[in-house]
Amino acid sequence: MSDLRELYQQVILDHNKNPRNFRRLEGANRTAEGHNPLCGDQITLYVQIQDDVIGDIGFQGSGCAISRAAASLMTSSVKGKTRAEAEDLFHAFHKMVTTEREAAGDPRALGKLAAFSGVREFPIRVKCATLPWHTLRAALEGKGQKVSTE
Ligand code: ZN
Repeated sequence: MSDLRELYQQVILDHNKNPRNFRRLEGANRTAEGHNPLCGDQITLYVQIQDDVIGDIGFQGSGCAISRAAASLMTSSVKGKTRAEAEDLFHAFHKMVTTEREAAGDPRALGKLAAFSGVREFPIRVKCATLPWHTLRAALEGKGQKVSTE
């Protein structure tokens, strides 16, 4: 288990250092902003939806290592997915970081997103990890509003 934990930590460090999809997306038809006042994380999400599929996605912002890595991994995992599939991932991810280990099931089913399974032990960090997902939801709903974890 400690090997796995170390691997997860490396995934988070890597995505914090070299965030994927860290760019303003020209041609985005959905955007949303997210803010986690507890930690100071800010994210702007750019989504290009075509025929109900997330064709491209990018983000910008500033925040802690967890929020940055979470945004990087979130954008990587939902690219090419339908809105319904992205919604399913949101629920699976949310469950993984907010419920007891036994109830949450096997985090490895979530692929690289499993790197955040340890976050549930640090409740203050849960909002950092879920901020990009809440922001994605707001963007997909097309509200164009600011979301806050508060
Ligand atoms: Zn944070």
